[in-house]
Amino acid sequence: MNVTKRDYYEILGVARDSDDQTLKGAYRKLALQFHPDRNPGDHGAEEKFKEAAEAYSVLSDTQKRSAYDRFGHQGVASAAGGGFDGAGFPDLSDILSDVFGFGDVFGGGGSRQRRTRAQRGEDVRYDLEITFEDSMRGLSVDIQVPRHEQCGRCHGKGAEPDDGLVTCPICRGRGEVIYQQAFLSVRRTCSQCGGRGQIIRRPCKECKGEGYLRRERKLKVNIPAGVDNGTQLRLSQEGQPGANSGPPGDLYVVLRVAEHPIFERHESDLHCNVPINPAQAALGATIDILTFDGLQTVKVPEGSQPGDRLRLKGLGVPHVNASGRGDLYIHLHVRIPAKLSREQRKLFEQLRDVLPTENEPSEKGIFDKVKDYFL
Ligand SMILES: [Zn+2]
Ligand SMILES: [Zn+2]
Repeated sequence: MNVTKRDYYEILGVARDSDDQTLKGAYRKLALQFHPDRNPGDHGAEEKFKEAAEAYSVLSDTQKRSAYDRFGHQGVASAAGGGFDGAGFPDLSDILSDVFGFGDVFGGGGSRQRRTRAQRGEDVRYDLEITFEDSMRGLSVDIQVPRHEQCGRCHGKGAEPDDGLVTCPICRGRGEVIYQQAFLSVRRTCSQCGGRGQIIRRPCKECKGEGYLRRERKLKVNIPAGVDNGTQLRLSQEGQPGANSGPPGDLYVVLRVAEHPIFERHESDLHCNVPINPAQAALGATIDILTFDGLQTVKVPEGSQPGDRLRLKGLGVPHVNASGRGDLYIHLHVRIPAKLSREQRKLFEQLRDVLPTENEPSEKGIFDKVKDYFL
């Protein structure tokens, strides 16, 4: 033991009557400043880091601290039975984990959780294709979701009940192992048992040691009217089971709505194209259109132009989880006959002779009409 050792309070820069919180804060600050990961190759920093760790390990221990207060460094050396050793290092992971992340500095593997922490199960995605009609009306559908279910025989432990588990021989049941790395002692999750402290001697007969069984689970999904392509329905707690009594994840049913051959959806409105002939456009007409609400009689006004649209209020897509519906728009396509019978030709020729001819290029604005038409 070196007689020129600095005073522990001085090292941490705290008063002799500091409380635990102050000690911890002071140590944390120094540990972060001089941590070898932040000062690679800096021997001075390494020494300071070690010094601070030693000071904190003594002062954070009530017994050692009072011995140190009375007898100085000698008091701790005898009380600790042979002075300071690596095993007495404070558990840095608790103090520094929020800065470095446990897995980064202490190696244990980022994904590996410490032994008994409850973990929420994973969310599961289920893609479901439905017809356009179903999306308009809503439906209730049974789906089969493959997922893990905790094994009832071993309750998820993966070992035979009673004597299937034994204490891990590597960590002796602690779940973590202390490594000496140069002067540093760090704790790592035991790789043998994955931090559980126990290993399987006899795997569970039911699940072959997996702890879970793959099951097809039948679920009823209620799809409300008005869902769209990509709508996600969340079924709470129907995902994978959690670990260590954690809650299950959720199941997300992601809908793919098939396209409709006639109706196109824009937000809550529906659109369709309806051809009419030039006479119907000019004279007006009454036409029947099959909608999702049955046959609708629609009045085409006299003098309708190509691209005009008619609105059928409230015949569009139902609002999901709300009342009301969008509208149905009928886009009028005036079809000019490409081939004429002798009689039709005669009538068109008569029309030609009586209709006014206006063949001047029209003013700009035609593109606005086109835009309107495509909406
Ligand atoms: Zn089992
Ligand atoms: Zn172990």
